[in-house]
Amino acid sequence: MSHLALQQQSSWQEVLASTITDTAELCRLLDLDLACLPEGHPMLQQFPLRVPTPYLGRMEKGNPFDPLLMQVFPAHAESLEHPGYSADPLQESAANPKPGILHKYEGRALLLVTSSCAIHCRYCFRRHFPYQDNLPGKQHWQESLAYLAEDKSISEVIFSGGDPLSLPDKYLDWFFEELAKIPHIHRIRLHTRLPIMIPQRITSALCQLLANPRFQTILVLHSNHAQEFDQEVDRACESLRKAGIVLLNQSVLLKGINDSCEALKALSERLFQAGILPYYLHLLDRVSGAAHFEVSEEKARALVAALQKSLSGYLVPKLVRENPGESSKTPIG
Ligand code: SF4
Repeated sequence: MSHLALQQQSSWQEVLASTITDTAELCRLLDLDLACLPEGHPMLQQFPLRVPTPYLGRMEKGNPFDPLLMQVFPAHAESLEHPGYSADPLQESAANPKPGILHKYEGRALLLVTSSCAIHCRYCFRRHFPYQDNLPGKQHWQESLAYLAEDKSISEVIFSGGDPLSLPDKYLDWFFEELAKIPHIHRIRLHTRLPIMIPQRITSALCQLLANPRFQTILVLHSNHAQEFDQEVDRACESLRKAGIVLLNQSVLLKGINDSCEALKALSERLFQAGILPYYLHLLDRVSGAAHFEVSEEKARALVAALQKSLSGYLVPKLVRENPGESSKTPIG
């Protein structure tokens, strides 16, 4: 049986367990020259390689500049220091009233429900986040849930992490049940890459759980390139839409990966084909180790202006930057 057929028949947990964590193995599977390996890369200790096999299957063999590979491959440039880049670029520790909660914006609070991700994106702004201080056990979650119950201005709770869909259903269900007891919470939003990384994660049981009639549920996916889609991802998105889940996408503008009008246009069109609205295009958060991905604000504006000329308005994402301490994301342009 082919590798693909095996994947299609496996549970998402089995697919997750087959994640590639070794750079030599990654190079071997992609027919890449082992000489391109960053030997003894200091950043791999801190932020290891993680590449799920369905995502790997969409990379072009023999191409070291494949746009999917470049998002996960630990480059030498990560270990270089750059002024203006830091471990906590959004100063999230200043908005962390209780373990597991970030309360940055009015009306919304973010729950860090897990530190796990199916993939490690090298530009991730939480790559240095102190998860060890922010993953309360069930008992301590009660304290954090009480914080949400006390603040009646909070109508939307955002599940983040890590990737919230890397949690087993029973934990997600527990959060939904607990939040259902708080009358002023009406919407649950999940920020996730899993439907794209491991589409098998979108089971009928998960769709049923997310479709809880007590809430409006929104999934904000994170795709950066049209090549991240295939039929399996389309099927996962269709199941979510049929369950009544609103699907939005946010991307990060990344040098060498999607910083061209053609790449961004193809991404918006592919997202819409899968029933997902392009929502945000983020400028890079200046996290240590990611400077080589930065695209200038000037180039970003020019790219969005070019997109506006060639796409219908609803396909053009909002270009934004997140500035620490501001009451919302800052629109650019
Ligand atoms: S999936 Fe999201 S949280 Fe996880 S490493 Fe990638 S960008 Fe960061």
